[in-house]
Order: sequence, then C-alpha cells, then structure tokens
Amino acid sequence: MKSQLSEPGPDSVSEAPATPGVGTGAPPHPLRALAEPVRGRLAVAVGLQTVAALAGVVPFIAVSQIADRLTGGSPADGDALWPLVTLACAAGLLALACGTAAGALAHLADNDLQLTLRRRLTRHVGRLPLGRLTDRGTGEVKQAVQDDVSALHTLFAHTLLDVVAVLTTPVLALVYLFTVDWRLALVSAVPLSLGVFLFSRAMAGAASQMAEFGAALGRISVAAVEFATGIAVFKSFGRGRKAHERFVDATEGFADFFSRWVRSTLVSSTAAVLVVAPAMVLLLLSMVGAVFVTQDWMTGAELVPFLLLGPAVAAPMGVVGPRIQQIRAGQAAAVRVTGLLHTPTLPEPATPALPDGHHVSMRGVSFSYDGHTDVLRDVDLDLVPGTVTALVGPSGSGKSTLASLLPRFHDVTAGTVTLGGADIRDVPATELYRRVGFVLQDVRLLRASVADNIRLGRPDATDEEVQRCARAARIHDRVMALPDGYATELGTVVTLSGGEAQRLSIARALLADAPVLVLDEATAYADPHSEALIQDALSALAAGRTLLVIAHRLSTVRSADRIVVLEDGRVTEQGRHDDLLAAGGRYAALWEAQRTAGPAEADNGLSPLPAPADEDRAADDIREGSAR
Ligand code: ADP
Repeated sequence: MKSQLSEPGPDSVSEAPATPGVGTGAPPHPLRALAEPVRGRLAVAVGLQTVAALAGVVPFIAVSQIADRLTGGSPADGDALWPLVTLACAAGLLALACGTAAGALAHLADNDLQLTLRRRLTRHVGRLPLGRLTDRGTGEVKQAVQDDVSALHTLFAHTLLDVVAVLTTPVLALVYLFTVDWRLALVSAVPLSLGVFLFSRAMAGAASQMAEFGAALGRISVAAVEFATGIAVFKSFGRGRKAHERFVDATEGFADFFSRWVRSTLVSSTAAVLVVAPAMVLLLLSMVGAVFVTQDWMTGAELVPFLLLGPAVAAPMGVVGPRIQQIRAGQAAAVRVTGLLHTPTLPEPATPALPDGHHVSMRGVSFSYDGHTDVLRDVDLDLVPGTVTALVGPSGSGKSTLASLLPRFHDVTAGTVTLGGADIRDVPATELYRRVGFVLQDVRLLRASVADNIRLGRPDATDEEVQRCARAARIHDRVMALPDGYATELGTVVTLSGGEAQRLSIARALLADAPVLVLDEATAYADPHSEALIQDALSALAAGRTLLVIAHRLSTVRSADRIVVLEDGRVTEQGRHDDLLAAGGRYAALWEAQRTAGPAEADNGLSPLPAPADEDRAADDIREGSAR
C-alpha cells in the first residue's frame, strides 16, 4: 500500500498501462490499481484504436499509389485503380468502425470505473472519523469524488486513445515514406524531431509544477468549500470577510503560480507548436520536394505521398502537450484518490460492546491533534443521565475538542470515554450514534426535502412524527409557509436562514431522539425573535436528555446541573453556578468579566437549558411522537 502513495519516480513510467510509451515521470501504481477492474476492456480499446490509427493511414497511401499510376502508367488502365479505390474505402470504413468501437468501449469501461470509484470513495468517507470531515476534509472529498474522478475519466476515456493514435499514425506514415524516398523521408522527420526537442524543454520541471498546480487547485477547492459552507458561521461571528479572504488568497496564489509557469515555458512551447503545424510542414516539404523534383532526384508523383502524409508525421506533436498535461493530472488525481481511499477509517471494535444505560464517564482523557501537543490533559468528567453539563472556558481551552470525543469525531489519545459502562471505541458506530446525537452551530442541510432533512436520523419516521418534532423545534410554521410545505426542496428554490436551519437541525435531533446530546450553543443570531425561537427549540431538545453544552455565553448556563471550567485543556473547576460564584475562582472571574462587558447579554434571560416550565411544555410537544 505504501508504495502506491509514494512520490513519482521517473523510472517507473514505462510500467504505466494507461500511458503506453509516454514518459510522464509519475508513479504508475495508483493508476494501475485504480484501473484494474476495467483493465481488460481498456486493453481491447487500445487494440482497436491501434487498428483504427493504422487503417486511417491506408487511404493516403492508396491515393499516393493512384497518383503514381495516373501519372506514371497508362491513364486508360482504370481496372488497375479499382482495387486501390476499394482498399482506400475499406480501410477508411475500418478506421471509422474500430475508432468508434474503441471510443465506445473506453467510455463504457470508464463509466463503470467512475461508478465503482465513487461508490468506494463514498463508502470509505462514510467510515472516516467525523473529525476528519472538517471544511478541509470536505474540500478534499469534493476534489476526489468530483474533480479527480473526472480527471481520471478524461485520462481513460479520451487521452489514452488519443495517445495511441498520436503514436501509431506517424510511425506507419514515416515507414511508408521511407519506402518511397528515404532522403525526403528524413526531411519529413525534421519538424517532428525539432518539435520533440522544443517540447521537452518546455516540459522540463513540469512534474513538480504539475504537483504545485494540483496543490494550488486543491487549496482553491478547500477554500471554496469553506467559503460556501462556512459563510453563515463566519458571518455570525462578524468574520465573513475572513472566509472571503482565504478564497481570494487561494485564487490569487493560483493565478500567480500559473502565470509564472506559463511565462517560463511560453517561448519554447509556442516554437514547438509552430514547427509541427501542418502548414509549416507542408511549406518545408513543398520547397525541398520541388528541389528534389527539379533535380530529377524523384518524380512529381513520388512527391504526392509526402505532401499527403508529411503533415501527419509531425502534427500529433501539436496535441501531445495537452495530452501529457491530462496524463499528469490523471496521475495526480489517482494519487489523491488512492490517498483518500487509504485514509484510516474509524476502527470498528473487535469485540463489540453495548452500553448499559446512558451514563457518560471520561477518565484520564488526554487528546492531541498532532501527536505532540496535548490539547486535553487528564480530564475526568461524568455526565449523569437527565442532567445538563455546560463546558465553559476561554476560547481555545479545549471545549469543542472535549465535546467532540463523545460522538467519536476523534478517539482519545489516552484515557477512556465510556457510555453506559462500555468504552465508546467498543460500541459499534450505528449503536453509538443511536445513543449520542449532536447539534452543531455549523448546520449542514442536505439538498433534499424539508421532511427528508428532518428524517435523516430516523428515515422510517411518519409524517406526523416529523411534524411533531418540527413543532417542538419551533420551525413548523415556517415550513408550512414554504411553497410545498414539508416537500419543499432545500438549497434549490428555498434556502433557510441560519436560525431556521438551526431549528431544523434541532427538529432532526429531536426525531433521532438520541438520549445523550452534544450541543454547540450558537453564539449569534440575526434577530431577537429568531434567537427566542431557537432557545425554545433547545429547551425542547434538552428535556429529559443528558446534555453536554459548549457554552459560549455564561448567561446561558446558569441553570446547568454542572458547569465545567476548562483551561488549557484541564478541568480547573466544576459545580453549580451559585457554588462556583461563591467559590470566587476562575468561573466567578469569567462571569464577572462577561457581565461587565455585556449586561444585556448576561441578563437577557435566554437559556438553551430547560427551565422547569419549558421542560414541561417541550415534553408535551414531543410526548407522543418520541419513542425513547
Ligand atoms: P474551544 O472550543 O475551547 O475554543 P478547541 O477545542 O476548539 O477550543 O481548541 C483547543 C485547541 O486545539 C486549540 O489550540 C486549537 O487550536 C486546537 N485545535 C482545534 N481543532 C483542531 C484541529 N482540527 N486540528 C488541530 N488543532 C486543533
């Protein structure tokens, strides 16, 4: 496996089955491995294309022969010409038939390959740790599933056959021209040789440039996904410009790199294209040929095949540049796709365990993103069923990281997280996600109907259950106002606001009905009405569940059963609001600081946590529909 991900090595080029004979300087292995399922069909397509390319030269040879007979032999001897005419027509038809069959076969093979690859990728991505699917991760996935698979399509369905034609046609044409007159045949090979020389100069260092090209495109892809999906969150923090900046930086970086690359190769690549241009080759052969004929070194009829086939000898060089780019792009795509396919998935337990109850217990938990720096150190924490635990602390103290361990966005580096007595690493993923749900600030809605978006956690839920949860989440009225109610497709005609999307995701969590919930409390809403609705929805969600809330504002955690203060990855204080205030420690200081900074915020009375009255109302809302 490791060798499939290794860096390009020029010595391995000749092994590449998809790029026969072309020196591309990149490793063949990922391509070979990916193309394996359709290898047989691609080989037949290559064979057919070779026949097509060879047969395509035959009519030109036949016409040259006809010209020779007409000028050299008896013009009245029509019978001698018919076999040549028949041969030309038959070869032309054969070329057409084989070329079409080759193209069709390569496309069919490629179609299957794309389907298989996309299925493999999506299956694999579905088993990756959720923490891997950050904005950066989704950019990578988008690039692999969409752009890279398309690059492979170009390679297998088009470039492969083009390259076969580009290599076969000149060889046969040149062989024939040598049989007519070896001296002029040598002259016809001059533009080709010159083109190869100039072109290889233009391509010098292209392997590293191509890698940078792919990397720069990757950065744009990541920034574009981040920009598109994260804009609402960035904006809610007043940092819309930040998301925009990264995208602009990535595109500007790409533009700079590309113009530098083009400038450095402009002269030699233009010269390469010019010397192999059919008009230039024709001009050269006409002039040299005229000298040959006037000097009686050859007959006028013998010049005809040079004028017909000469341009074909060199012309393919003109298209080789883009083809090599496509081959390199395909190879880089294969490396990325293979890389993603080999990204370790969330390990499934060897001996699965089922939780007994919903008590969450963290013992001696440490976690590091990079394997060096611990962002969580020796954390002990208990989430008692039916209680609300709020995580507070300065930004960067590890709140989100700690909360993300529970739904296994990442696995602990040291220590254990248990749910109902079972280590969550031993709980099969489907069982874990039935018990542990999460509502994040950055809501992702699918391009599907409102009902299907809510049903995500429980696809077999009835319409009544969906609506009951939507009511409890305070989104039902808004859905009913949409053009097709619950059948309205999201993301096409209708796009929900951030607050509405948040409420929809709460309805989704209500329906999924996981007894343990991780909630990243949203920090900013467009308007107070929207915020009030969200707080109502959150109260419904909290009712009767075990809740772990990442609290960004202290005012929202006063009624929590337990407040846990995190600092620099450690739990430094925990207890109830009043007790922590009385203790006069870090929490009291944070509370005071936030209260002084924003009294309106601290005293706005809005809470994601269920005040007793809220709890009753929420329980009423969902009592019938939520079988727990
Ligand atoms: P909080 O939620 O309290 O703001 P986080 O849990 O997000 O804190 O971050 C804790 C630390 O971990 C920070 O230093 C942050 O830079 C780092 N961190 C967070 N997410 C990642 C990630 N995906 N990769 C690497 N480091 C990360």
